[in-house]
Amino acid sequence: MIQPDLIRNVVIVGGGTAGWMAAAALSRLIANGVTSVTLVESDTIGTVGVGEATIPPIRTFNEMLGLDERAFLQATRGSYKLAIEFVDWTRPGHTYQHPFGPFGADINAVKFHQFWLKMHREGRAAEFGDYNLCGVAARLNRFGALPPQHRSPLTPMSWAYHFDAARYARFLRDHAETRGVVRQEGKVVSVEQRPEDGFIDAIVLDDGRRVEGELFIDCTGFRGLLIEQALKAGFEDWSHWLPCDRAVAVQCLNDNAISPFTRSTAREAGWQWRIPLQHRVGTGYVYSSAHISDDQAADTVMANLDGKPVTDPRILSFRAGRRRKAWVKNCVALGLASGFLEPLESTSIHLIQAGITKLLALFPHRGFDPVAIDEYNRLTNVQIEQIRDFIILHYHANERTGLDLWDHVRTMAIPDSLQHKLDLFRGAGRFFRHEDELFAESSWMAVLIGQNVMPQRYDPLVDSIPEADVARAMEELRTTIRAAAESLPDHADFLARHCAAP
Ligand code: FAD
Repeated sequence: MIQPDLIRNVVIVGGGTAGWMAAAALSRLIANGVTSVTLVESDTIGTVGVGEATIPPIRTFNEMLGLDERAFLQATRGSYKLAIEFVDWTRPGHTYQHPFGPFGADINAVKFHQFWLKMHREGRAAEFGDYNLCGVAARLNRFGALPPQHRSPLTPMSWAYHFDAARYARFLRDHAETRGVVRQEGKVVSVEQRPEDGFIDAIVLDDGRRVEGELFIDCTGFRGLLIEQALKAGFEDWSHWLPCDRAVAVQCLNDNAISPFTRSTAREAGWQWRIPLQHRVGTGYVYSSAHISDDQAADTVMANLDGKPVTDPRILSFRAGRRRKAWVKNCVALGLASGFLEPLESTSIHLIQAGITKLLALFPHRGFDPVAIDEYNRLTNVQIEQIRDFIILHYHANERTGLDLWDHVRTMAIPDSLQHKLDLFRGAGRFFRHEDELFAESSWMAVLIGQNVMPQRYDPLVDSIPEADVARAMEELRTTIRAAAESLPDHADFLARHCAAP
């Protein structure tokens, strides 16, 4: 016997990446035949059409759905991603990487970066990035399975993907529809709420159809049709810390190698992304409209393409911040409907995934337990704020003097939570990961050290280990990593062999 207060009718509004990720994941509720999942989307409104770089947890999501990696990469014309390369962020002419996976290995339970800080001061360390396999492989344009003789605890591989967003949504749609999700095409024109408590009863489409539900998932993008327009969740604005509010996006043919990394190049009023896929490269300039005009931004991006453009420049507007509550009454917002952080660290799709995971973990019954809703909102807020701080760090720790936007973000007051992390690191290279913080110590070290934030001291425990032993261990690590990276196949060849489109 099933529980009598089980939710039997879930309605997802919106069919972008968020909507179809939610539909694919929630399709497992249909399995026992008691719950229906309906997705409503409007072809005339369309999707945001960007969002093509991811981080490693996406693999867990795809695995949860049982997706085959090769079929997924074929369908989405995807490529592998090992790192983000940051060009000119620290200062013009400087490049560093934020690779996946750890840097080095701890020695006697003391953090690797602490040893590096000491040896770097003494001029005895290689570049920090030379101690990370993904970063070295990315620089060599390599990707593939490590040969057995190069597999060891010193050479962990971690990867994510670049993919065509429209094709990913289509791939997930096939998955969801095969498992019983019902798609309805139509434009939502009104939202019906129960007079007694404001819970959503139904949405009404432009042809008069009424779609009833017990739980609604708002995936309507920036407009937040249910969560904001109907339920007035409110928006916490972070544009004083993250002033970029527009992007101009272009797709072009790829004249260069399909690199296994995303590139982010700092520009006068923001930064430009480069995301290589099998069939094209996506690029775009994220900028602050207070510092540069749309035309100037479009000219900049057109002057910095990798190949022949296949689309016209398209301008998108946004505002950094989050809904005050992502879950209100019987509505949970996912994706752009729940908030926005610029795609500097490819975190939006991850936040959709994290929202779905939390929703499944706290899946409601018809009574909608307020304790569970509060916990969902608390966890959601903590997570996006932690990511916000990490993104602000990239802007704040810059030496790009003489440019209005960059001078502003370098000198502005930052969130207390980030200030605390910076103070701890500047003291003696300390870092602590809080709760389920997405970015681990290795990510923070990549950006802090990459952007030349150097602590005054290093951990005193480092001096308890003979310097000659440290130097030997570090050199062994560097050469082991280098040899492992060189043993990998060329990324484009690997893709052609294993994942080429049919
Ligand atoms: P959308 O794609 O906007 O989908 C909204 C859906 O709601 C559509 O199906 C639309 O038809 C439907 N809809 C809206 N109103 C109605 C209505 N009235 N009736 C019926 N249907 C309606 N994220 C990353 O992780 N990595 C990246 O590299 C990345 N790059 C980005 C670059 C830019 C410039 C921007 C702006 C975002 C980027 N993102 C990135 C974020 C990413 O694009 C989004 O998180 C992702 O695409 C999810 O979007 P969505 O599904 O929430 O919204």
